[in-house]
Amino acid sequence: MIDCQNILDKTYQKVRAMENMGAVASYIPELAKVDPAQFGVCLITKTGEKFMAGDSDIKFSIQSIAKVLSLSLVLSKLGDKLWQRMDFEASGSAFNSLVQLETENGIPRNPLINSGAIVICDVLISELANPKEEFLKFLSSITGYEVNFDPTIAASEKEEGYRNFALTNYLKSFGNIDNDVEIVLDFYFSLCSIKLSCAELSNLFLYLANDGVHPKSKKQVISKSNTRRINAIMSTCGFYDEAGEFAYRVGLPGKSGVGGGILAIHPGKYAIAIYSPRLNPKGNSYRGMKFLERFTSKTESSIF
Ligand code: GLN
Repeated sequence: MIDCQNILDKTYQKVRAMENMGAVASYIPELAKVDPAQFGVCLITKTGEKFMAGDSDIKFSIQSIAKVLSLSLVLSKLGDKLWQRMDFEASGSAFNSLVQLETENGIPRNPLINSGAIVICDVLISELANPKEEFLKFLSSITGYEVNFDPTIAASEKEEGYRNFALTNYLKSFGNIDNDVEIVLDFYFSLCSIKLSCAELSNLFLYLANDGVHPKSKKQVISKSNTRRINAIMSTCGFYDEAGEFAYRVGLPGKSGVGGGILAIHPGKYAIAIYSPRLNPKGNSYRGMKFLERFTSKTESSIF
């Protein structure tokens, strides 16, 4: 039996001692205000063991990690019909890139880049009577406690969100957005603004480590086959043009956010969340990547 807490602590100390490189996301003004030295980790196993280090209880904006939650909800509602609106192929380009949409007629490459996640918001707005409330209810039914949007972060992103407005208008010009652009983006920015700590994030995502059932609440969040599909999509698309690097160095399905969070799943075993807001040039947490590479090597827990 490996001493998980010991390996977690040692890896944490090692990465903490390294130079903290990269830059905090500044294109969302509210995110630029966070302390770049914050660094936390939490791992929870499906049997309920919990291992933590550093700032594991500090809440941060989960940003694109929320794309996995909206994908979970939409797949449980729509099933395979979703794939008429987008694909599930790796994009090999930046999370907010517009270029592929032109040659691919407004069909986003996958649900974990901005264009795909924005189309999912559009679908949820059409499917749900009160999308924001129902989305939060969906999350609280998994965690057992209230989860909320952060209106200050959402407003801050909206103020400077030119690229996402461009993406959404472009998608609409191809007929792949049914609702009003402002309404779709209001929902999208709200999802990105959710703040959770590493402890909360790893707990929330345990259903992806347990065939779609949250082990604490016992809620069947998504089906077993959708769980497998979401983990597959995270492995190929969760880190944009760094997905190959993450598979090679870390070897787990995962998802990053420009708030500095990374969530990774060991199917059948655990969920782990890392928070450190300085990002590498691809928009992924610099320390988060370093930590996970070392951690999965030491624990031999790459799935490959
Ligand atoms: N809200 C951010 C955006 O749309 C999310 C991006 C991310 O976390 N990679 O730009």
